[in-house]
Amino acid sequence: MSNDALTVGTLSAPRGEKRYGVNEFLVEGQTYRLPMWLINGVGDGPTLVVTAGVHAAEYASIAAALELGRSLDPESLSGRVIVVPVVNMPAFSARSIYVCPLDGKNPNRMFPGNPHGTASEQIAHWLFRNVILQGTYYVDLHGGDLIEALVPFTIFFRSGDKHVDEVSLEMAKVFGIHFLVCSETPGSTFCAASVAGIPSILAESGGQGIWTVQDVWQHTNGLNRLMRHLKMTSGGAPETVPFTLLERFLWLRSDHEGFWYPAVAVNDRVKAGQNLGFVKDCEGHILQTAISPAEGIVLFIVSSLAINRTDPLLAVGA
Ligand SMILES: [Zn+2]
Repeated sequence: MSNDALTVGTLSAPRGEKRYGVNEFLVEGQTYRLPMWLINGVGDGPTLVVTAGVHAAEYASIAAALELGRSLDPESLSGRVIVVPVVNMPAFSARSIYVCPLDGKNPNRMFPGNPHGTASEQIAHWLFRNVILQGTYYVDLHGGDLIEALVPFTIFFRSGDKHVDEVSLEMAKVFGIHFLVCSETPGSTFCAASVAGIPSILAESGGQGIWTVQDVWQHTNGLNRLMRHLKMTSGGAPETVPFTLLERFLWLRSDHEGFWYPAVAVNDRVKAGQNLGFVKDCEGHILQTAISPAEGIVLFIVSSLAINRTDPLLAVGA
């Protein structure tokens, strides 16, 4: 195999070829199977890493990653693309909300991972070391979880490295989703990658277990736009799309176990101090009023009536 091969674990794609395969490694002593595509373009160019299914019930993102992996042709690619469509297969099978069923942890708080930690930390470590660190650029696809509605948005992180941060913001703009959100989420894929010097974004589209053509398109369109921008595919630079930059990503959480009654919808513009919804008990007594901390846009709302203590209720971008 020449130096031009694209290799991840035991899988390898020579220059100009594409490989689908499953990498196997041990997680908490059991064999963990991670499917992926390696697409090694005929032309020179950067390496783009695309992951989905870190949260494995965010189906629009997974459907988009599958579409990219299945359709991308190395003959019309300059550079390399690694697509991991379902990072968390145990969670996908279990239709698990937020967490990996192997350890009950949110995988998107575990990066860059720990080889000596629990399952989610070990998976994060393997993925980070073997896949994400190969990227010149990194895109992690998400959406609303089974119990979340959202308006599409793209998140980026300001790591403090001027070059990385400029490129991450540029990637977010190029992706073509209207709302751009600056967020520091410790342990998340895109923050850990940014800190490691890899310009990164996390794109959110779809939710509530539904994956419409439009929701999937939002992701595939963003990836296609990004690859054109990076001159990895033909078609020239994509047209610019108007955007709104939101500097703060403000999450409200429940202090109680109870029943959640949102008073707003996603994409609503809200004022500071506005009532955004109530957590009630069985009899209807108000346990908590969700008050908007700022003027901004409602980006996501938990849509399940059931709510647990410390669960997110909704988020405002401001
Ligand atoms: Zn997610």
